[in-house]
Amino acid sequence: MTQQVGNPEATELVTLDGSAGAVLVDLDAGPGTPSVRVTKPLSGVPFVDLRSVHGAIRGDIDAAIAGVLDRGDFILGQAVEEFEAAFAAYCGAAYAVGVDSGFSGLELMIRALGIGAGDEVITAANTFVATVGAIEAAGARPILVDIDPATFNLDAAQVGAAVTPATAAILPVHLYGQPADMDPINEVARRHGLAVLEDAAQAHGARYNGARTGSLGHAAAFSFYPAKNLGALGDGGMVTTSDPEVAERLRLLRNLGTTRKYHHDVRGFNHRLDTLHAAVLRVKLASLDEANESRRRAASLYRDLLPAGVMAPIEAPWAEHVYHLYVTRIGDRDDAIRYLAERNISAMIHYPIPVHLQPAYADLGYGLGDFPVAEEIAGQILSLPMYPGIPVVAVAQVVEAIEGFLRG
Ligand SMILES: *Cc1c(COP(=O)(O)O)cnc(C)c1O
Repeated sequence: MTQQVGNPEATELVTLDGSAGAVLVDLDAGPGTPSVRVTKPLSGVPFVDLRSVHGAIRGDIDAAIAGVLDRGDFILGQAVEEFEAAFAAYCGAAYAVGVDSGFSGLELMIRALGIGAGDEVITAANTFVATVGAIEAAGARPILVDIDPATFNLDAAQVGAAVTPATAAILPVHLYGQPADMDPINEVARRHGLAVLEDAAQAHGARYNGARTGSLGHAAAFSFYPAKNLGALGDGGMVTTSDPEVAERLRLLRNLGTTRKYHHDVRGFNHRLDTLHAAVLRVKLASLDEANESRRRAASLYRDLLPAGVMAPIEAPWAEHVYHLYVTRIGDRDDAIRYLAERNISAMIHYPIPVHLQPAYADLGYGLGDFPVAEEIAGQILSLPMYPGIPVVAVAQVVEAIEGFLRG
């Protein structure tokens, strides 16, 4: 990717984009702080652009959709079973059960473990609101725990102190695409006889000490929201597990408790994964690793180029991070977003207000100061454009703009 320019300035300037010669990095700016100059800027940089992902496999997607239309098996059809088998194998789990969203996956996973009213489920204070909503939808009580400031994930060292006689499960979130530190979490769970349930909605394909998310606890829930690392053309989700009884209960719960048509031994819901989505997801699963690799390359380019005034995400030694989001820390975060927006660069915040400070969750009983790390980073985090196939010039343009912002 790095290429010397064959001219007298060759010792100072390096082009990062051989095709366009559009990005120049001044190596004289000092180690770790290259000064980036984009000579042929794009008109703007979107936060996410999925066209390159879908464009490359458009023919296969069209054929998958046509196959479902031809068979007409729109509900729990052939493609659902095929995709479930492929996804389970991909994660290293014995079973996968398709559902209609990540939220449903979390809720049904908790219910399938027999967890509900009177039970407490421990999760991370900085998670997306859906994690907490799903715990409550299952009838259980969410208990929040602060995060590790280095990885932005559940602080395993604080989990033990949150365990009470009512605790039934620990639900770590692999936030932004980086697996939580599972060994100590599993150890606390083993000591207290708790279930460990993964929220893997942002971490399809990520690895913890070599093992994929979806295989790191008793069960895991994934989201196929379009912008997730593996996204449907609408809503979808999946629960993986290696426990055959949990898998069986999940199949009943997602489909009205149906054992045989019109025979219902348990009460269930309608949370099935559509055949059409499963067919498309099966096609997209084949290129998930490639897409994640592309995200990781973009992350490493950001890391190399970003100036010292921005804190790049820290990859934990156990993690193969898949960068669902590229989340940095910066002072004057809100001014930085405005500065980038004025230059047609879209940056976002994940998430600006921790769940316990959201009006909707005031009755959880927490207040300002309860989770100092989650609260502090909420005011500093900045998610930069990140998607598979993001052009080198786009990354450089973001870095150039941030350098401009920091210069003031
Ligand atoms: C996206 C997401 C969910 C919810 O998934 P949906 O498919 O949108 O219902 C849950 N948890 C986390 C961490 C997420 O990012």
